[in-house]
Amino acid sequence: MMMYDVIVIGGGPSGLMASIAAAEQNKRVLLIDKGTKLGRKLAISGGGRCNVTNRLPIDEIIRHIPGNGRFLYSAFSIFNNEDIIRFFENLGIPLKEEDHGRMFPVSNRAQSVVDALLSRMDDLGVEVRTQSKVKKIVYQNSQTEGVILESGEKILCAAVVVATGGKSVPQTGSTGDGYPWAEDAGHTITELFPTEVPITSAEPFIKDKSLQGLSLRDVSLSVLKPNGKPLITHKMDMIFTHFGISGPAVLRCSQFVVKAKKKWKLDEVIMELDVLPDQNQEILFQDLQKTVKAEPKKAIKNALKGLIPERYLLFLLERCEIEASLPCASISIEQLRTFVKMCKKFHFKVNGTLSLEKAFVTGGGISLKEIEPKTMASKFMPGLYFCGEILDIYGYTGGYNITSALVTGRLAGTNAAKFVEGN
Ligand SMILES: Cc1cc2nc3c(=O)[nH]c(=O)nc-3n(C[C@H](O)[C@H](O)[C@H](O)COP(=O)(O)OP(=O)(O)OC[C@H]3O[C@@H](n4cnc5c(N)ncnc54)[C@H](O)[C@@H]3O)c2cc1C
Repeated sequence: MMMYDVIVIGGGPSGLMASIAAAEQNKRVLLIDKGTKLGRKLAISGGGRCNVTNRLPIDEIIRHIPGNGRFLYSAFSIFNNEDIIRFFENLGIPLKEEDHGRMFPVSNRAQSVVDALLSRMDDLGVEVRTQSKVKKIVYQNSQTEGVILESGEKILCAAVVVATGGKSVPQTGSTGDGYPWAEDAGHTITELFPTEVPITSAEPFIKDKSLQGLSLRDVSLSVLKPNGKPLITHKMDMIFTHFGISGPAVLRCSQFVVKAKKKWKLDEVIMELDVLPDQNQEILFQDLQKTVKAEPKKAIKNALKGLIPERYLLFLLERCEIEASLPCASISIEQLRTFVKMCKKFHFKVNGTLSLEKAFVTGGGISLKEIEPKTMASKFMPGLYFCGEILDIYGYTGGYNITSALVTGRLAGTNAAKFVEGN
């Protein structure tokens, strides 16, 4: 039977980092993954460019992790986004900053990030077993003792780091295998749900594909509470699809649709779209009134050309029951007011999201009340550590999830190694 100090299960960003951190403490480390390759999700992240981390200040990073980001304050005091940037620079992978603080490898290749991690593991002597599915973790005398592979092989160790990810995009290996092992150790798994996922709608204009393929830039998109007040608003781009809506603003709003449906027991949630978020409604109305008055003979669709994308303009005019080719003079003040209101507050119903499997990120996971925030140790089982998306931490896209995975991985690996020393 083999014996290791630390076994890391899962070769995503959290597991790769955990194995490096444990090996840097001169421990004998084995990383096990069921796939043929390591870092499969990492290699497709950020559109194949890997949005490794984000350079915004820590408070902003936490704010962009609506799923329990505050839990990471302690972890960030030990290893944070700037440490990640330095870490990769030292591995020969300089990062560059893009919009909203997003950091990408200068190479623009996610695979270069994966390769750098693998090369560091190799240098440190981390042993790797791919195509080896862990079936369960062995707990003996209230202590972590090792793992059992699906082949039946038992591998002993002093500490186990579970880095098996969530349940999204299962073809990358993230199929939720780690949750029952955590439950076996007494942990609670909070309800899992899709986040950073396109939103579905049964509105007739979605079903008849009136707006399919239309992209809107820098719009303000809100999920409304039953009282009509916004639960959340995001100002970013979006796109209409054949099943609903997608794009950055939509991905960020998606978890709030799920939460609103659950909290208020709703089948449908109202969303509000402001296509001109930088314009005041009353001033916009007065400006358009002047435009319309100045060109009484011009068709309304031509007078309003350039205000918003043409397809959306025609769509809104139709919804306001304004014939697009009518001359401006025939448009009433009430009609113009309705049109302006539609520009600022177009309401439509959504009924959910695509599935957890299609989501970028899994919401929910191992309850953080049961995890030591400075070490990622289980509060129940000595020698057991968790990191990455398996934890109940979920951020917006923008490098926040990989940051969380790398930071929690760093702590889990370091402290699993320290645990071994103390035993
Ligand atoms: C398309 C896409 C793009 C993304 N882009 C970004 C981005 O740009 N920025 C960002 O911050 N986040 C992004 N994310 C999210 C981010 O990739 C994940 O949050 C992150 O990969 C989670 O890391 P992890 O280490 O926890 O788990 P994962 O990366 O999911 O890795 C888990 C590993 O565990 C292994 N495993 C599972 N079960 C077993 C078992 N029983 N035995 C052995 N091995 C097992 C799997 O094979 C897998 O290799 C993206 C996600 C997707 C799907």
